[in-house]
Amino acid sequence: MAKRDYYEILGVAKNASDDDIKKAYRKLAMKYHPDRNQGDEAKKAEEKFKEVKEAYEMLSDAQKRAAYDQYGHAGVDPNMGGRGAGPEGFGGFAEAFGDIFGDIFGGAAGGRRGGGQQVYRGSDLSYAMEITLEEAAAGKETQIRIPSWEGCDTCHGSGAKPGTSPKTCPTCSGSGTVHLRQGFFSIQQTCPHCHGSGKIIPEPCPTCGGAGKIKRQKTLEVKIPAGINEGMRIRSAGNGEPGTNGGPPGDLYIEIRIKPHEIFERDGDDLHCTVPVGMTTAALGGTIEVPTLGSKAEIELPEGTQHGKTFRLRGKGIKGIRSSYPGDLYAHITVETPVKLTEHQRKLLRELDESFRKGGDRHSPNAKSWTDRVKDLFK
Ligand SMILES: [Zn+2]
Ligand SMILES: [Zn+2]
Repeated sequence: MAKRDYYEILGVAKNASDDDIKKAYRKLAMKYHPDRNQGDEAKKAEEKFKEVKEAYEMLSDAQKRAAYDQYGHAGVDPNMGGRGAGPEGFGGFAEAFGDIFGDIFGGAAGGRRGGGQQVYRGSDLSYAMEITLEEAAAGKETQIRIPSWEGCDTCHGSGAKPGTSPKTCPTCSGSGTVHLRQGFFSIQQTCPHCHGSGKIIPEPCPTCGGAGKIKRQKTLEVKIPAGINEGMRIRSAGNGEPGTNGGPPGDLYIEIRIKPHEIFERDGDDLHCTVPVGMTTAALGGTIEVPTLGSKAEIELPEGTQHGKTFRLRGKGIKGIRSSYPGDLYAHITVETPVKLTEHQRKLLRELDESFRKGGDRHSPNAKSWTDRVKDLFK
């Protein structure tokens, strides 16, 4: 499914000012807010709401907007919001978002709720997902089970036992905030009695314990982009905990963990592996097979290959999320000394040894330079 243009979603021109974008967003957010759409419309409205929210998030951030203008959706993958932006970037956004909702529901819609209750965005949730290196390289579509919340049927979301009703909080008189005097200052704080809801429930609903909502599980489709690396986070907007008093839900962050691989170690887009080679193969040279991720390749070992020699296989690494071409695979050669020799093999090796000795040190380049250096040391 092709993604819609962010400007089109918000119904603003490409050169719209930040103010125009904010205004358009407010109008649409109110229109599609889950609290204002019931029944069959609710699901559709929720989708629209998410779309509008994403468009606003991108266009209200000067950096993201510039990237979007230049590269389109490829420049600002919202699924990768966690990387680069980091928690600081996100906090900034959450604040901006809280502002807007404070405006809408604390002000315009506040009356409807009977008093300026505090509107809170729901908490973010995080989910650790372990995948294999192969899955990280190729990408993966999978499903996860995450908690979700449903309105309680017994109390219809009020949290009060049927037949009773929530009462206005006596501590804050329903405002959800209290003012504390501290020296010369008066500090506004969330009411400790009702935790900002403005209401207290004298007799909680037996089904939900007064929460007004019940925790369930739901299945979420997750698309892991090819090239993802350890510690990267995928953001699933709106799948965190629900907000309070009509505030928007938090987001879900899926943090990627990559299982250690039997053969390969990853370093950015490059892969490294160790390839054991027999002593005679290393001496005579020949073709050896090396594993690549999901396949194999061949290396031509030249005659006299030394232990520790590294061969680079171009493009046999991993193509990172933001890379335009794949990394390389480094095959590190370890030369193996033969073990469990038969009497015959021992005899052959002794003969070989004798023949090497006759050639002086010209058959052992490393030993030769080492002996020279030792000689220099005692000169
Ligand atoms: Zn209930
Ligand atoms: Zn209170």
